[in-house]
Amino acid sequence: MSAGLNLAQTQAVHHISGPSLVLAGAGSGKTRVITHKIAHLIGQGMAPGRIAAITFTNKAAAEMRERAKGLIGKAAKDVLICTFHALGVRMVREDGQVLGLKPNFSILDSDDVLSILKDCGGTTDTQLARQWQWTISGWKNMGLNSQTAAAQVEGEVDKVALEVMARYEERLSAFQSVDFDDLVGLPLTLLSQHAPVREKWQARLGHVLVDEYQDTNATQYELLKLLVGERGHFTAVGDDDQSIYGWRGATLENLKKLPQDFPALRVIKLEQNYRSTSAILRAANNVIGPNPKLFPKTLYSELGEGEPVRVVDCDSEEHEAERAVARIQGLCASVNPTPEWRDFAILYRANHQAKALEKALRRASIPYKVSGGTSFFDRSEIRDLCAWFRLWSNEDDDPAFLRAISAPRRGIGHQTLAQLGDFASQYKCSMYAAMFNQMLPARLSARALGGLAEFGRLLNDLQYRARHALGAEAARQFLKEWLEEIGYENFLLEHSDTAAQATARWGNVQEFCDWMAQRAGGVPDEAIGGIVTEAKSLLEVAQTIALLSTISEQEKDQNVVTLSTLHASKGLEWPHVILAGVNEGVLPFQQGEEGVIDQQRLEEERRLMYVGITRAQRTLAVSWTRRRKKGRDWVATKPSRFIGEMNLAADTAREDPRAKLRALREEFARKAAAGSTAPE
Ligand code: ATP
Ligand code: MG
Repeated sequence: MSAGLNLAQTQAVHHISGPSLVLAGAGSGKTRVITHKIAHLIGQGMAPGRIAAITFTNKAAAEMRERAKGLIGKAAKDVLICTFHALGVRMVREDGQVLGLKPNFSILDSDDVLSILKDCGGTTDTQLARQWQWTISGWKNMGLNSQTAAAQVEGEVDKVALEVMARYEERLSAFQSVDFDDLVGLPLTLLSQHAPVREKWQARLGHVLVDEYQDTNATQYELLKLLVGERGHFTAVGDDDQSIYGWRGATLENLKKLPQDFPALRVIKLEQNYRSTSAILRAANNVIGPNPKLFPKTLYSELGEGEPVRVVDCDSEEHEAERAVARIQGLCASVNPTPEWRDFAILYRANHQAKALEKALRRASIPYKVSGGTSFFDRSEIRDLCAWFRLWSNEDDDPAFLRAISAPRRGIGHQTLAQLGDFASQYKCSMYAAMFNQMLPARLSARALGGLAEFGRLLNDLQYRARHALGAEAARQFLKEWLEEIGYENFLLEHSDTAAQATARWGNVQEFCDWMAQRAGGVPDEAIGGIVTEAKSLLEVAQTIALLSTISEQEKDQNVVTLSTLHASKGLEWPHVILAGVNEGVLPFQQGEEGVIDQQRLEEERRLMYVGITRAQRTLAVSWTRRRKKGRDWVATKPSRFIGEMNLAADTAREDPRAKLRALREEFARKAAAGSTAPE
């Protein structure tokens, strides 16, 4: 056995020739198998650059890179540890030319897509556009385009969506842009239709590892198959009980298909859970019990019985939040050694549930972060700057053009822009190209033309300088000059509600510029899901920005309590976990009145509960509220059926709402006064 691995894990790590699947429950060391296997492959002489490890989120990729670094040191930076999307970016940048894409194509975020769809469908109705977005994305995830999707179309609504999709595809190619779904779809097209590209990638990659395999969708599976070819040197690890992205097209079919598509597949099961106490694991096993089994599994823990799982019933969400805070304080006072803030997570079904919790944590001065919430990069000032970057790297990116030309506004009115847009669509070119079209002067007033020409000159000048701003210092200097030249600080002052807000936003801009300059200086880039950068010009850095600005969650390992949705908690672990809002209707989630819930949906919600429970290492509390606000009214609510399904021993489960917590709180206050509370 290798160090730190049990027998089954060692077998999984040592099986390096041909396909293998590690199928095992939560906390059994699947992700650990991946990191150790990377080390083992390198130990066996494989060049780090020939190994790709694909994870589900940027955060997971960053964490895996950290763990790999611990095992193999510097070589970890050459291993391609990234998400499917980041891998897709790399493949399309390298080989997208055969599909008619320039290497500097732009990546559109969800907002850009929405506004293009509105435009294509001639509507301002966001709801409707979202519906199209959802439908089109669904088709794309099944590997369909506007032509091949025609067979799927049922009814009038889909028919309209299909027409919008056709126009949307035209726009994207005119803008030299791709959306997130394309980042998996285009690599798939590349590999399936271009043999030389396929052969190149298959020769390059010696082994591909995929974590959270149960949540891959059909196109991702096809991509994997093409990447590994017939030899099938890959390792997939997953747990069918943790499949929680069915709603986004993930399919357990991928698990069933593996043994058929790869008859040589070696299936390895892991049974020991190294994460949780027996009490927690038992609750998890009880909850998942009623779900039909794709593969039988047993899971045990040797970490001892541990603290009983607690059920906390509360009056309202506010009360629930206070109880959560009290529990954290109580554990800080009573557990030895004293936990740190980072040892706690409060998990919930839906984003909006964070609000009450945030307020209570603030009131108690407990530092926290909302994982998966509004990220730094979603702030409007950062998105303004990113629009300029995108435009420098791809002049045909119309959404970026429109944002940059109005941030700050430079005397070019809406009407001029609308005319320019009309002209561009008539000549089937981008708005940037339209600015320089000789036919344009016939359409616009001299004043409008002057404004546009001025903007064009500025843009070209800045773009040229960005290309030549090599390395950190040059980039920093250039960014400073640029912001001065466009008067961005003033613009923020004019467009903020208060001076304090303007200052905060300007601070964000500074932070962002620093971060860009560092990237130009060539720091290894954790945030973009595994693409390691070298010293670059600012323009090159800018080319990865769209991806950064949207799918990355830049999270430092701060010592704070984590608030997270259950979905975003996948793969992670904390010593102390509170599951909040475990009410019927919330988890399992149900829209509208309580009623019968579709069996498949119920099973997915149950898996979500299983994921939540199995995040906990030492203690777990599950809370629910007797009433919840629905619109303006209070409605009485019931505990989730999953609480009953945990099948906890009746006498230990219910936490005494008053006596014990009061005692713990008092002790916390005493310790705080004595200056020995939980760490800052
Ligand atoms: P999930 O299904 O939640 O993704 P997982 O199967 O990927 O879980 P890991 O995160 O790899 O599990 O491991 C869970 C915990 O158990 C980690 O803290 C890991 O370091 C530890 N662990 C795994 N295997 C061993 C082992 N053989 N010896 C000691 N600790 C282990
Ligand atoms: Mg894992």
